[in-house]
Amino acid sequence: MTQQVSTIKDLRAALATARQQHASIGFVPTMGYLHAGHASLMKRASTENQTTVASVFANPLQFAPEEDLATYPRDIEKDLAIARQEGIDYLFVPDVEEMYPQMDTGTNYLQHVLTSVTVNKISSFWEGQHRPSHFKGVTTVVAKLFNIVGPCTAYFGEKDFQQLALIKQLIRDLSYDVSVVGCPIVREPDGLALSSRNIYLNTEAREAALVLKAALDAGKTAIEKGATDPGVVSKTMHAVLADEPLATPDYVAVVCPDSLQTPKTITSEVRLMTAVRFGATRLIDNCAAQPKPQR
Ligand code: AMP
Repeated sequence: MTQQVSTIKDLRAALATARQQHASIGFVPTMGYLHAGHASLMKRASTENQTTVASVFANPLQFAPEEDLATYPRDIEKDLAIARQEGIDYLFVPDVEEMYPQMDTGTNYLQHVLTSVTVNKISSFWEGQHRPSHFKGVTTVVAKLFNIVGPCTAYFGEKDFQQLALIKQLIRDLSYDVSVVGCPIVREPDGLALSSRNIYLNTEAREAALVLKAALDAGKTAIEKGATDPGVVSKTMHAVLADEPLATPDYVAVVCPDSLQTPKTITSEVRLMTAVRFGATRLIDNCAAQPKPQR
């Protein structure tokens, strides 16, 4: 049975027994409006831990003033049902006041928190370049949630591949005693990666959104057929995106999976990443690509 908890104090009290008994605590942070992608993380956490916590918190710090915080979809009853189905013990659903009591709820939230956590370098390119304060908001809330929950293992989706790399760096640099598990991307039958933001897409944009996966597949195929120049692979992906009139690409990236930097030549597994806007809706996706073995 999943228990909904809304305060830090109550969650700490609820987890005290688990901690005394040295039970392993698994944690899945989310922004809610849960789907099968989130459910896969929860299922894995429940399978691998004695006690499980998931959080639902649309963190204002990671939204720029012009972004979709106010309209971000919410359905706490459905979230609770999914958490229950996946065997989550505690669903932590704090309000903004609970998480950031010092915050004056203006629009630029990051300006109002007194303490924040920044992971340098990795946070500055790709997503970071297009959403400049986003990752600072993410690492601040994740650091705070880790301190509240005290998990042994935290589960994140590869869907947000750069975020996953950033969290691993945060854990290393601040010596958190937390293992991170990266979970595979869950997709719709036609290939679109599940995202809470897919709800914003109208029929035409939903159809057009298949172009993300198509571009990634084209890049992957090029690499598997022997392309070793990241520039050539990027061009192949851009060409696919350019064929879709409703798509406005933010970036296409061919990167090493750990550093997220573009290699000079593709000699080992790389990650292909893209972000594309469809009107006001911005979607991201990525995949691994393995070069042809050298003879
Ligand atoms: P969000 O609620 O979008 O912040 O996502 C919460 C967690 O779920 C993050 O670790 C995401 O990477 C993960 N996630 C979101 N969508 C998917 C998906 N389609 N497949 C797997 N994990 C996902």
